[in-house]
Amino acid sequence: MALHGEYDPDNIFAKMVKSEIPAIKVYEDDVAMAFMDIFPQSEGHTLVIPKHEEARNLLEMPPEKLGPYMERVQKVAKAVEAALKPDGVTVMQFNGGPAGQTVFHLHFHIIPRWSDRPMSGHGSSGQADPADLEAVAYKIRNAF
Ligand code: 5GP
Repeated sequence: MALHGEYDPDNIFAKMVKSEIPAIKVYEDDVAMAFMDIFPQSEGHTLVIPKHEEARNLLEMPPEKLGPYMERVQKVAKAVEAALKPDGVTVMQFNGGPAGQTVFHLHFHIIPRWSDRPMSGHGSSGQADPADLEAVAYKIRNAF
């Protein structure tokens, strides 16, 4: 998918916001929602999306909405750190298919990192067991 184009209101993340498909959520308010990535690149891989903006990527996000959204990205990253005590945290975001984006609703990845564990490649990790994701999500929810 190109860098710019029509926002699809039926993309999977939009459907999660509307509760049309399930998400293992760790945080939600009026601005943003955070949930576990089902193909985690490391334990605790969390996605943070804006809830009410039809922005396919960072470049399409209204500038005045970025501050509140990024506050939530940081808030979730801090909860992930507090819950899982990683040695580092990768925060990443892709814009357009050629850049690696696969879901076209703006999202930031929060990926805890440990010195002794490599991170899986983007798009090359297997699907996690929902029970394992729920156990990690429980820890993150309790760290806000
Ligand atoms: P992107 O490639 O667009 O930066 O990231 C999309 C992310 O969404 C990927 O890390 C992928 O694993 C994740 N993902 C894809 N489908 C689903 C899904 O149905 N549920 C959840 N929770 N994550 C998904």
